[in-house]
Amino acid sequence: MPCNGEPLRARKFTGSELVLATHNAGKVREIQDLLAPFGLQVTAAGDLGLPEPDETGTTFAANAKLKALASATGAGLPALADDSGLVVDALSGDPGIYSARWAGPGKDFALAMQKVEDALQAKGATNRNAHFFAALALAWPDGHVELFEGRVDGTVVWPPCGTRGFGYDPMFVPKGHTQTFGELDPSYKHSISHRADAFRKLVASCFAR
Ligand code: IMP
Repeated sequence: MPCNGEPLRARKFTGSELVLATHNAGKVREIQDLLAPFGLQVTAAGDLGLPEPDETGTTFAANAKLKALASATGAGLPALADDSGLVVDALSGDPGIYSARWAGPGKDFALAMQKVEDALQAKGATNRNAHFFAALALAWPDGHVELFEGRVDGTVVWPPCGTRGFGYDPMFVPKGHTQTFGELDPSYKHSISHRADAFRKLVASCFAR
């Protein structure tokens, strides 16, 4: 709140072109779905030959911000980045911001899911509560950034189930459901996901006139 008592207003997105600051095909699909109603020209950072910056932040928000800024300054256009991951309560929040790194250089998510299960077994954990968390950063080439966060709660299950989705989807059952994100219809997942939650906040602040 600034000192005159007025709420701080987010910067509005008024352009027609947006760069998606991600090289993850699953995220590109999901964010393109979310952006579809806005009729924007959306280009993925990889298609513009923009490099993937190192994720040196210690929070989802810091990593989303650095990725969005790298693409916005590299492309000279507003850029939207997502930093997200699976947060498992019994593992003190792991894999968290390291969710992609648990899959190793080969991006092997069968291996990453096995590591989560092995870590739970090693602890003898009976608490399987977890959530997916997403930070979305919308950055402009002048360095301005707006940040939004979202989550979806659920449990991690074993064995993984379903071939839809990406990453840890086959081992995550959202609260109130019996199927994993790997089994549920992708358009349904896209409406209840952590990214959808953050995206609704972004739209309310930056897209609504
Ligand atoms: P980063 O945001 O690029 O660091 O990568 C986040 C990682 O978290 C992804 O590579 C996925 O493994 C995982 N992740 C994030 N969102 C989802 C999701 O919606 N489903 C499954 N895995 C996800």
